[in-house]
Amino acid sequence: MSLYPLALKLAGRRVLVVGGGAVATRRVPALLAAGARVEIVAPELTPALRGHVDAGRVRWQARRFEPADVDGAWLVQVAIDDPAAAARVSAAAEERRVFCVRADDRDAASAWTPAVTRHGPVTVAVTDSGDRRRAMAVRDLVAHALESTPPAAPQHRGVALVGAGPGDPELITVKGRRLLAAADVVVADRLVPGVLLGELRPEVEFVDAAKIPYGPAAAQEEINRILVEHARAGKFVVRLKGGDPFVFGRGGEEVIACAQAGVPVLVVPGVTSSIAAPALAGIPVTHRGVAHEFTVVSGHVPPDSPASLVDWPALGRLRGTVVVLMGLKNLRAIADRLIAEGRAAGTPVAVVQEGSTAHQRTLRSTLAAVAAEVAEAGIRPPAVVVIGEVVHAVA
Ligand code: SAH
Repeated sequence: MSLYPLALKLAGRRVLVVGGGAVATRRVPALLAAGARVEIVAPELTPALRGHVDAGRVRWQARRFEPADVDGAWLVQVAIDDPAAAARVSAAAEERRVFCVRADDRDAASAWTPAVTRHGPVTVAVTDSGDRRRAMAVRDLVAHALESTPPAAPQHRGVALVGAGPGDPELITVKGRRLLAAADVVVADRLVPGVLLGELRPEVEFVDAAKIPYGPAAAQEEINRILVEHARAGKFVVRLKGGDPFVFGRGGEEVIACAQAGVPVLVVPGVTSSIAAPALAGIPVTHRGVAHEFTVVSGHVPPDSPASLVDWPALGRLRGTVVVLMGLKNLRAIADRLIAEGRAAGTPVAVVQEGSTAHQRTLRSTLAAVAAEVAEAGIRPPAVVVIGEVVHAVA
């Protein structure tokens, strides 16, 4: 059988979905993404479909299908298992000359949904003549090839501030990785996974922000200047930062600098080490019945320093989890201060070094003992310190 491939403009057009189970749950989002006016006829819905209905994105008739439901629809999606009931839907669609997709029996359908991969503005759809697994395999091959191929024409402008995740190169987001592959210039921090940088095309200009030879304040100004200068020259600049760009990453300053220079800036959040490093050491930052809050603080200045903006007395009163970043150097002062402010000396503490990488190490201790034990064990930065009962919640 030979199929005629076609792409549908469904925006504002009524699409009837018959069935409210798993198949409908998987099909409805793509219909909504295409702008279709989705109407579901089904006695019951899955919670996810119910969510679309409650949000006003989908209309729902809570009953069984009637042939007149097809009237006015441009397309019918049959998402029910019962072959006899499905056949009644497709018969009603056929009679009204409305194309009908059937999840239960492709041969009985008048339209097939292809295997799809989306790559920015490009959608690749693969159809087959019955061997759907082969179509999916071809789709996967194309998707893989596209992932490593930058878009032919430069589509992006300005600066993208991308969170690279805590260290494992697989923990960057899909969007972050796609933008990185399209970059003309990459400005990266020290904590960015090297593997990601190794994948850059040879013509990409790479700026190692860690090597800028000034003090921290001047270096930041220099980074801002580099971002703005390249963006103004028409380059697409990806500013790659460890973890999430807005968690102690000075991302906000770079956004301001770009905005002041009239350079468009896009923020792509990242997986932050403050949650991921504990998680990968088996520590949930919240746990039912244990901690209903977690606070992430910077330990880069000692608690008694006038430069510290952290409310240590408040942290002493909290019973929830405290996560300290950049805290190794001042660990003794931090632990002492928390005890002085009311935390029990025996409060569990874990220190996770280089979380998510092959070098990850975890040390478990208590507030009273942690500073000495970290020194003894030779724990080095980057490391997060997790304080609270959650340290023992799972493991
Ligand atoms: N924006 C980053 C944090 C930057 S501040 C984020 O969201 O993760 C740098 C501090 O983050 C380090 O001193 C350390 O405390 C922590 N850190 C970053 N990567 C880490 C990792 N892989 N394991 C443990 N801590 C990490």
